Amino acid sequence: MRDERITKFPFGGDYNPEQWDPETWPEDMKLLREAGVDTVTINVFSWALIQKDDDVYDFSILDSIVRTVTDAGMNICMATATAAVPAWMSRKHPDIRRVEWNGMRHTFGGRENACPNSPTMRKYSPLMARKLAERYASLPNIIAWHVSNEYSGRCYCENCTKAFREWLRDKYGTIEKLNHEWNANFWGHTFYDWDDIVAPNILSEEFGDYWNARTCFQGISLDYARFQSDSLLRNYRDEYDEIKKVIPDALVTTNLMGAYKEINYQKWAPYLDIAAHDNYPWDGESESSVGFTLDLIRGLKGGRSWWLMEQTPSVSNWFVNCSVKRPGVMRLLSYQAVAHGADSVMFFQMKRSVGACEKYHGAVIDHVGHGETRVYREVQTVGKELERLGDQLMETVTPAKYAILFDWDNWWAVEYSAGPSAYLKYADEVKKYYEAMHRLHISVDIISYDSDISGYDTVFAPLMYMIKPGMADKLEKYVQNGGHFVTTAFSGYVNENDRVTVGGYPGELKKLMGIWVEEIDALPQDKENHFRLFDKDYPARIVCDVIHTQGAVALADYKEDFYAGSPVITCNSFGRGRAYYIGTSSSIEFYMDLMLKELGMEGIEFAESGTVPCAYRQDYDSVKYVESTVRENDSARFFFYLNHSEEVKRVIAPSKGIDILTDREYSGGDEIELAGYGVVILRTSKA
Ligand SMILES: [Zn+2]
Repeated sequence: MRDERITKFPFGGDYNPEQWDPETWPEDMKLLREAGVDTVTINVFSWALIQKDDDVYDFSILDSIVRTVTDAGMNICMATATAAVPAWMSRKHPDIRRVEWNGMRHTFGGRENACPNSPTMRKYSPLMARKLAERYASLPNIIAWHVSNEYSGRCYCENCTKAFREWLRDKYGTIEKLNHEWNANFWGHTFYDWDDIVAPNILSEEFGDYWNARTCFQGISLDYARFQSDSLLRNYRDEYDEIKKVIPDALVTTNLMGAYKEINYQKWAPYLDIAAHDNYPWDGESESSVGFTLDLIRGLKGGRSWWLMEQTPSVSNWFVNCSVKRPGVMRLLSYQAVAHGADSVMFFQMKRSVGACEKYHGAVIDHVGHGETRVYREVQTVGKELERLGDQLMETVTPAKYAILFDWDNWWAVEYSAGPSAYLKYADEVKKYYEAMHRLHISVDIISYDSDISGYDTVFAPLMYMIKPGMADKLEKYVQNGGHFVTTAFSGYVNENDRVTVGGYPGELKKLMGIWVEEIDALPQDKENHFRLFDKDYPARIVCDVIHTQGAVALADYKEDFYAGSPVITCNSFGRGRAYYIGTSSSIEFYMDLMLKELGMEGIEFAESGTVPCAYRQDYDSVKYVESTVRENDSARFFFYLNHSEEVKRVIAPSKGIDILTDREYSGGDEIELAGYGVVILRTSKA
């Protein structure tokens, strides 16, 4: 149910006035108001400012900030301050300091620096949330609560190790069951006591470097990844529960980071009242890669709209090369988020700080201190537009006939695997299918393995290496009832604990796919095999499954190597539906052709000027920079056209409508001109 205080997209973002003299605050308020800012996120890193010792709390500065912002007529997104541990707490309670992957215990510094299983953290962070909720419960302009900030990282301390043993005991019940699932007889790893188990890191099972860790024992590393994600979730829930006890109808969330590998956001989603995301594309990241991330966030809460909690107005300062967003690009990316379901446009940060590592990160108010900057003016433009848009897009949804299944457990398992290829990256492979749909303007939901798939026309599960309990049955029923299912090489190998399903690959999916995969060959990065389909040659890259059909039909065969002539693409009729196996990694062009010519998928009503609708075009590249999506409610359908290039582009209005950014009217078939980085949101009637 919509909060009646939120009558338009919240516009604003992180504001840290505690870093400045209070005398400067009134001028900040004036500039922010004039830029259209109506919501500020405060108190993100103020733990040290508020809690000065075990029992000493001082809210006076926060009270002043709250009063200043409230007097300026702004809404507040209230953070719980616990994203960085106070120095005194770190000194006095060393259990709160994390231990690194290499066993080194941190001293004080950084942020997101608390051990999630530290008794001190579990005592003081919920206490802070409760005190804040009690203090500000009656404040009418707090529209959301923002727990911690960008949860991240892992800890390998003694407290985490002890908690991990308990987590394993809950999961497996007996040590014998654990030994079986982890296949602990390998390398003499039999555990006789829960206390034999230690955290998997570079001192025990893992090697390489932290961000690309390899492991000698997939079972323990996979469970530790799950356990750490669960531990941080418990920290979040500690605070969430305290706020809810005081303010039951509070909107509570935390800012996620898109396709962030270390935390299973799908498991967190039930505890987020609304999903929230920080959108920081890297320099040169494709619009489809960004779109994938935005749709992943949209999928967390069943397609419901979400909040863009942070983006930079101009520059992200942590890259090697920190390019500024070109004129128009901040606006374009703001509307790209909206096009993929965002119901807010928020920034980090409102004002540039004068010291430490974010002083050169973009801000609405620059160091110069006035509004006569390009960035300020562009923010003001978006602010005015959102004011005019009001609530008409709020809570509209994207209708999708197609889905991509995405799963964090599978992600960890694929990339902990020793073989077949370290070049086989889960998110990269999934994004290839997504990019094909993105270029074809096909709306797609990105959903978890647990989601209901029965309503979709076609479901893709690239690299479905792990088959969780009940998954094979669910997929068989889905296809039996007429669904189309597409999976790929290196699928169906293991159960949820990375234990191989014997009897031939793809294991539990063999019956549905009607094939047996005998071998999987990995190709060096500079080598390709090939196959021919739709009267074209396509590349086979990274891995090549050597497939025998067992009921399926081969649609294409390999052209080279000892497995030349054996199937690479197969289709199995199963009940009223079909199951496709793509035994390799190919080009975007192949995936697009597969979707159009074999699967008969349909993009949204959209055309480039003077051509047939692009979904049926062969010349994909010429439209690749016009992104198009749809949001709708019962009465209206909104077509988003986003020009990601510098050049003017023209598209054809699918029906009579009005551009809600300019109020310009179009008839069906009219040409719509999109300036470089331009945006049009065409509202049409659904009646
Ligand atoms: Zn720890």
